[in-house]
Amino acid sequence: MIEKLKLISEGKAKSLYETSNSSELLMVYRDDTSAFDGKKKEALKGKGIINNKFNAFIMEHLSKNNVETHFIKLIEDNESLVRRLDMLPVECVVRNIATGSLCRRLGVEEGIKFKEPLFEFFLKDDDLGDPLINDNHITAFGWGTEEEIEKMKEITFRINDLLCKLFEEVGLILVDYKVEYGRSSGSLLLGDEFTPDGCRIWDVETGESLDKDRFRKDLGDVVESYQIVAHKLGITL
Ligand code: 5GP
Repeated sequence: MIEKLKLISEGKAKSLYETSNSSELLMVYRDDTSAFDGKKKEALKGKGIINNKFNAFIMEHLSKNNVETHFIKLIEDNESLVRRLDMLPVECVVRNIATGSLCRRLGVEEGIKFKEPLFEFFLKDDDLGDPLINDNHITAFGWGTEEEIEKMKEITFRINDLLCKLFEEVGLILVDYKVEYGRSSGSLLLGDEFTPDGCRIWDVETGESLDKDRFRKDLGDVVESYQIVAHKLGITL
């Protein structure tokens, strides 16, 4: 039993608590679901448990493939133990197929498959609507170093290779996703989460969205769709 001590942050879908070990935190996945930088909100029963187990499965798969992550272990149905990180205030997005904000921003057609995966940085700032930024913003504002930028790109592309393969094997397409990184004892580690809340997954046969777009677009069956993906990947819920 890991004791939850001080609440150190309450995000839109997760809460982080200090534990008796100052370098480890307890990450609690809630059912709260949000979109459009927190403007649309709802609690979806069972989502916290699915996302916690989904994330554990993905983090363990990445770890086995030499991607260093903050994940330590599952503690409860909706709780995981993680290493404490000093997070960089940026989001790393990789896209394989055009959709979402990219289509709105560049006026490109939905569904175009890129010749090569596309990497983008966004600033983590809900009030500003998470604006697109480039490498130079990161170094000029001191949010990260050139070395960290290169490392984030390298790891995020590596995650893409590993996860595209994993999803493809079970009839799913990893369309795009967002990851975040943080520092711990001089190294850069994958932090936050990898769940259907922060990626787009399409069924290869039907093209159906099985991710948070179901919530964003009011398509219904949000948790049920996450369950379908988990089941296909062999995740025990
Ligand atoms: P887009 O830029 O098209 O809105 O999102 C690109 C990808 O990153 C999608 O898979 C989306 O779910 C994820 N993403 C972008 N920003 C956020 C964010 O602030 N929170 C979460 N959970 N995912 C995000």
